[in-house]
Amino acid sequence: MPTRTAYGGKRAVLTTMHGKGAVIVPLLQSRLGLTVEVNPGIDTDSLGTFTKEVARKKDMLETAIEKAHLGMTASRFSIGLASEGSFGPHPAIPFLAINREIIVLVDDERGIVVKEFVSSEDTNFSSLVVDAAIDITDFLNRAKFPRHAIVVSPNQSLDDRPTFKGIRERTVLNGLIRRCAEASSDGKALLQTDMRANFNPTRMKVIECCAHKLSQRILSLCPQCREAGWGIVDIERGLPCGFCDAPTALLRSEILGCVRCDHREVRARSDGLRVADQMYCSSCNP
Ligand SMILES: [Zn+2]
Ligand SMILES: [Zn+2]
Repeated sequence: MPTRTAYGGKRAVLTTMHGKGAVIVPLLQSRLGLTVEVNPGIDTDSLGTFTKEVARKKDMLETAIEKAHLGMTASRFSIGLASEGSFGPHPAIPFLAINREIIVLVDDERGIVVKEFVSSEDTNFSSLVVDAAIDITDFLNRAKFPRHAIVVSPNQSLDDRPTFKGIRERTVLNGLIRRCAEASSDGKALLQTDMRANFNPTRMKVIECCAHKLSQRILSLCPQCREAGWGIVDIERGLPCGFCDAPTALLRSEILGCVRCDHREVRARSDGLRVADQMYCSSCNP
């Protein structure tokens, strides 16, 4: 067990209602020597849900930090962890969905927050409006049902209720579609993929990847002040066109930074690309 890391032998609390401890706890234990206890007793749904009964009021980072603090206060820990996810259309390819995950380590002893993000196109995020007569086999296959659960609600009702979550059984699903369609003013039911981590193994894998990146960042020390959590904090665009040297929108360099001091370092693209193809140049290709 690594004990010479900044977190070797320390204890933290992970606030989650949705079983994320299964992937986060063993990883941080084995890589950092950090003992992570799970606090499942806090209603994190009050901070926002995917099914929109409770809209998230703050951005992902603020929500994750707030969630970590809730667990730290309740469990009387000075180090806390929490994760937060979002789903939506890909910014460049509209018909493709994207899953963004963030995990934070909030350390009130050292007065730092270490955060890590992952974006993944590997997600089953989708929805479908149906009436009881429609064949939903294709949708269910794409949703990876029944390993991944479905949420059913009336398509049109004042508050989207009743909403049934975590459905993994076809006969139960069929019954709920009929019931929700009847409760809807347009006679249709809304099917949504259940994005809560413990009902969505594909999302759980993305969270695991994010936890891995977070542990890597915690192991990286600032070259200036030796604080844990050194890593990429920003990027610079403007990779020069290989033909005319004009700046393009492509990534030119990564900015590495510290969570404690002002130290920054600029690093060229890690894939070794130093000039952009002419096709990305607005001077050559107006
Ligand atoms: Zn050019
Ligand atoms: Zn530093």
